[in-house]
Amino acid sequence: MPAKAPPGLTLLESRGALREWREDIPEGLSLGFVPTMGSLHEGHLSLARQAASTCSKTVVSIFVNPLQFGDSEDFSRYPRDPQADCALLADAAVDAVYLPEPADMETMLRRFPAEGPAAECWEAEFRPGHCEGMLTVVGEFFRQIGPTHAFFGEKDAQQLFLVREMAAASFPSLEVIAGPTVREADGLALSSRNARLTANDRKHALALSASLAVLAGAWKGGERGIAVLEKILAASLEQEGVQVEYASLVDDSTFHPAGPSLSGPWRACVAARVGGVRLIDNLLMGGP
Ligand code: AMP
Repeated sequence: MPAKAPPGLTLLESRGALREWREDIPEGLSLGFVPTMGSLHEGHLSLARQAASTCSKTVVSIFVNPLQFGDSEDFSRYPRDPQADCALLADAAVDAVYLPEPADMETMLRRFPAEGPAAECWEAEFRPGHCEGMLTVVGEFFRQIGPTHAFFGEKDAQQLFLVREMAAASFPSLEVIAGPTVREADGLALSSRNARLTANDRKHALALSASLAVLAGAWKGGERGIAVLEKILAASLEQEGVQVEYASLVDDSTFHPAGPSLSGPWRACVAARVGGVRLIDNLLMGGP
């Protein structure tokens, strides 16, 4: 835990400290919330800045949520650096950072995704328990913090979809706002897990964003067959020797498999293991 707060940033290291801080915010002011697992990069910081410029007050949480890791090794190796994170958040004009202990996040209220492909396919299929674990903790944060606005990255498009569904059902006054995926200059989507890539794996990791670019090229070139586009996407990923988990076209408004035609907005979603590191990416396409 950080020894002391950088100037301008309030550290909330327990649920009690959060409650007191929340109670001091006058009624009628907006409160923006950005949940993170720390090891912050520009993707997180862009959401934090978006929150700070949209809302009267902003709080960012840092909590490596054990419930959303099926793989205990991935959990224990997840990078953690709260001291550096706090310095970055102070620079992003965030008011407070909530760093709960696991006991602060204990909840009797487990939240399950609504039924349908978003609850059963893609991330839900390859990371059993992940979606429930994520929703349970995000729902608990919503309950404890009572934000008026919550900010999520489009990089985790399925998560964003599920959180929107949960918010509509259980937190109807909360506005969920999406931020665009932030990338390295060569296209690799920023991820805390990128720090675990070897120099060689870093080259192979480019396969994810490159496959999305190949797909976009095929779409712009007039290809409209869903099966053909999915094949192009998967083939481009496989070429780089990464271990593909899924390469799918998804209807962006329902998160069902895209089809029967690609008339509305749809998303190409990919997940692959590169070395021992699991990476995901997606690209919104189609629509007006
Ligand atoms: P995480 O710390 O991975 O749980 O991510 C916390 C939030 O940051 C989630 O809403 C993610 O979607 C978002 N995020 C992660 N990576 C990026 C990125 N490259 N661009 C934009 N948002 C991101």
